[in-house]
Amino acid sequence: MYKDLEEIMLTEEDILKRTKELGRQISQDYASSNNLFVMSVLKGSVIFLADIVRHITLPMKYGFVTISTYKGGMRAQEKPTVVNTTFPSLEGMDVLLVEDILDSGATIRFATDWIKTLGVASVRTCVLVAKEGYENSKFPHPDYVGFEIPNRFVVGYGLDYQEKYRNLRCIGILKPAIYGGTE
Ligand code: 5GP
Ligand code: MG
Repeated sequence: MYKDLEEIMLTEEDILKRTKELGRQISQDYASSNNLFVMSVLKGSVIFLADIVRHITLPMKYGFVTISTYKGGMRAQEKPTVVNTTFPSLEGMDVLLVEDILDSGATIRFATDWIKTLGVASVRTCVLVAKEGYENSKFPHPDYVGFEIPNRFVVGYGLDYQEKYRNLRCIGILKPAIYGGTE
């Protein structure tokens, strides 16, 4: 599995250190909230969720949402929809959405717009990695960003290629041969 990687971009140690810092920051920022709800977008951000919540030192709840993206051929035609949730009501909750990766920002924008319709008290977003240049994107920026990485397709720590490689402990780039030579 690791032999399929051309390059390790973030080691397990890099990720755990940063996750700990983010957890500490989030704990400070939400210190006065009694209603923190951390929402994870399935399936990629499950591993990040598991690490980050263990560094949040406040009482909190968490839950999951499945968002399906129907690709109409071109990226611009993607229409995300919420297909499943694991929570009854988020009325009055301070929701922190955690995502594995931010590329264009469309997924996070869709998810935050949807969360805002659920009667929540507040919504913020946290991504482990953001592709460089995201600051120039027209989409709202995440409130917490673990790492900014070059604009390459990455796998590991929850991120997949054809549903595989999610269980790698690091984040890296696959050898071109695995993709058949194209990214
Ligand atoms: P966005 O909506 O921000 O363009 O894309 C976010 C989604 O695209 C992520 O949740 C993830 O599923 C997928 N994605 C974007 N970039 C990568 C990448 O480099 N590697 C993997 N495995 N998935 C990615
Ligand atoms: Mg995802």
